[in-house]
Amino acid sequence: MSQNRPEIDTTTSAFWKAAAEGRLLGSRCAECSAIAEYPRGFCPSCWSNRVEDVELSGKATLYTYSLVHMNPMPPFGDHVPYVAAVVELEEGPRLMTRLIDIDPESVAIGMRLSARFETVDEGEGLVLFGPA
Ligand SMILES: [Zn+2]
Repeated sequence: MSQNRPEIDTTTSAFWKAAAEGRLLGSRCAECSAIAEYPRGFCPSCWSNRVEDVELSGKATLYTYSLVHMNPMPPFGDHVPYVAAVVELEEGPRLMTRLIDIDPESVAIGMRLSARFETVDEGEGLVLFGPA
């Protein structure tokens, strides 16, 4: 198991596989149309289990962030300093991620971002964000 991402189970494996292919996968509820930021077996808005995977645009704006200078937990120690961020996807949901391809001094709340994909293991990828 990679140290770069949470443990993968049957519900979330599609998300990591899609990321390795450069696609951001979420879910859409057939009952209330709510979009969730990653596939899961139920709708976080109305608890319906009538959910289907949907590909999201990867377009987002920066909701909030923190510049991290110290993190002893692997693999994050290798990345310091890094920008830990919560981004708001064009489709609505917010996603915790890390910003790349940007000088931390240039980071500003509300800036436009787009998804970047990084393969960590065979067939599994991370979803990161950088300037649009
Ligand atoms: Zn719903």
